Amino acid sequence: MTRTHCPYCALQCGMTLTPSEEGVSVTPRDFPTNRGGLCQKGWTSADVLRAPDRITRPLVRGESGDLEPVSWDEALAYVAARVRAIQAAHGHDAVAVFGGGGLTNEKAYQLGKFARVALRTRHIDYNGRFCMSSAAAAGNRAFGVDRGLPFPLADVAGADAVLLVGSNVADTMPPLVQHLGPVRAKGGLVVVDPRHSATAALTDAESTGAGGLHLRALPGTDQVLLLGLLHLVVADGLADEEYLAARTTGWDDVRRSVALWWPDRVARVTGVPEALLRRAAHLLADASPARGGAGAVVLTGRGAEQHTDGTDTVTAAINLALALGLPGRRSSGYGCLTGQGNGQGGREHGQKSDQLPGYRMIDDPEARAHVAGVWGVDPDLLPGKGVPAVELLGKLGGEVRGLFVHGANVLVSAPDALAVRRRISELDLLVVCDFVPGETAQLADVVLPVTQWAEEEGTMTNLEGRVLRRRKALDPPGEARSELDILADLARLLDSPAAFETDPATVFDELARASAGGRADYSGLSHARLDAVEEGLFWPCPAGSDGTPRMFTERFAHPDGRARMVATTPGAPADDLQPDRPVYLITGRVLAHYQSGAQTRRVAALNRASAEPFVELHPQLARRLAVDDGDDVAVTSPRGTAVARARITTGIRPDTVFMPFHWPGAGMANAVTNDATDPISGMPEFKVCAVSVARADLA
Ligand code: SF4
Repeated sequence: MTRTHCPYCALQCGMTLTPSEEGVSVTPRDFPTNRGGLCQKGWTSADVLRAPDRITRPLVRGESGDLEPVSWDEALAYVAARVRAIQAAHGHDAVAVFGGGGLTNEKAYQLGKFARVALRTRHIDYNGRFCMSSAAAAGNRAFGVDRGLPFPLADVAGADAVLLVGSNVADTMPPLVQHLGPVRAKGGLVVVDPRHSATAALTDAESTGAGGLHLRALPGTDQVLLLGLLHLVVADGLADEEYLAARTTGWDDVRRSVALWWPDRVARVTGVPEALLRRAAHLLADASPARGGAGAVVLTGRGAEQHTDGTDTVTAAINLALALGLPGRRSSGYGCLTGQGNGQGGREHGQKSDQLPGYRMIDDPEARAHVAGVWGVDPDLLPGKGVPAVELLGKLGGEVRGLFVHGANVLVSAPDALAVRRRISELDLLVVCDFVPGETAQLADVVLPVTQWAEEEGTMTNLEGRVLRRRKALDPPGEARSELDILADLARLLDSPAAFETDPATVFDELARASAGGRADYSGLSHARLDAVEEGLFWPCPAGSDGTPRMFTERFAHPDGRARMVATTPGAPADDLQPDRPVYLITGRVLAHYQSGAQTRRVAALNRASAEPFVELHPQLARRLAVDDGDDVAVTSPRGTAVARARITTGIRPDTVFMPFHWPGAGMANAVTNDATDPISGMPEFKVCAVSVARADLA
């Protein structure tokens, strides 16, 4: 029996793998995040290990145009020769790396090192840029450090009120709903979402027995709503002035900036009735410890973050939490519900275009010297800052001629995905490390088969900043290898000046040294230490410490120890409504599928549960368009069209349609989405764009 964690989302539910005739079988295990529960993705996660189309040999595109099996030596020699040729002709930055938030900490770290030292390119970024980058930027700005939840998830259950902005946890992380149970029973759950999602339904009186609040804001108006709540906190004398004076800077500016967000104005912009805004503001304030409550928690998800003003929207959420005196107090605070399995660790160890391991900035001379010292190279050899993911994808086929993709499926997951496909087809070299032929791998010149979660050792960092062990339960099929081995071999072939270890525990020790003294300090952690504790350990964990489950209890991470409040101004969606595109498109996930669906679409039980994409539209809109339930509907923006079956429901606003983004092909939602980005975080605006909607046979 092997104790490990689910391969999918950031909840990292505990599970036990038992040898079975088919390989391994999964049973849930009691762990602080899942308390013995698993969602259907977790229950069926072993099925992906035995996917019939698992890649088991390296593949290189031959003269016939097909991907053909070759030996590892041939494949790696081919990749190294092509990289050398591209870089000789166009420079080091002509080869880029695109990583993933599902890679283990060890792989994420090794990938960053490979890019900077073996390829010597500044161009590395990862799909976490699409996921929680706005919350990361806002957290760094406000608190001086970014850890998704700066408190254990169990703290949420102790709160009297939780404000959940733009997150459908009931579908994306079902076991998390257990932690909301006591809050729901008190009627303290407030959900902000344009849809009556499964999570919004948790606020229904019949669901909670007490009733919470669902604020069904117009897409793209979350920041206005949050500013309106803060206005009410100020106007009704609910702010914790003592806390604000002692622990923050910038409050006067922020207070002034919300003065004009009168409730009637906010109600007009967001569509949320004034009375509901008032109830939400008072519910949160009354729950705060300063006013004698048990605690209040403000949480954001992708709905709030994936906007061109995403960083400022999260900042507004943080300002609200600070005004109520929540961060650092019992059962209280602000947190981001990170989505990907290692979305947190993935952003700490050097996959981001501007960061080195330990959350160090790449343009900081001290940081460069420290990390170069660990790697045994001259700091001047390290390249400078690269560009965020969307900008990087925009360079493909132009300045960037070669691309390595690890743990990402950009042809389905990137915004404006058809443009990404066009650019990728213009590359001189596309190398994809994958375990199944996902849509991006299908276009590759070289596909390198890699191990999956149950076939490898490593660590992951979950949404709480809890570092935990991933353990091996069975051997990989065929010739599949770990990326740690592949990167080490490629680095050697490219005459890397630094050595690349391959043993995961040794790589982790190196990562820990590289992170020492950084914002995400892992120097007190090792595989052996994590093996000795059942529930993992929280970073920051400097050498000699037992980790930090609760942050900010005494001070924030800025040098003066105070949180920085920054006044914000809401922006309009980059692609706003037009006469010929009068409807908003919002996108999201369904219970049965994960991210681009490359894994979950290969699981029969999940396909039975959710077989195809769909378009949710309100009966009023459906009537206007003469659409019946089940009709094919075309959703069109200047970037492309997606066609999927209509699901008519009052759970969506009449001015908005919803599509899940897990499928490629005709129903691919990201053919339509906009690649405009937040100028601070680089986050694309997945969550709102203007579309025309019509019956497909009339479009
Ligand atoms: Fe848990 Fe997420 Fe896995 Fe579901 S997908 S079992 S919620 S870790």
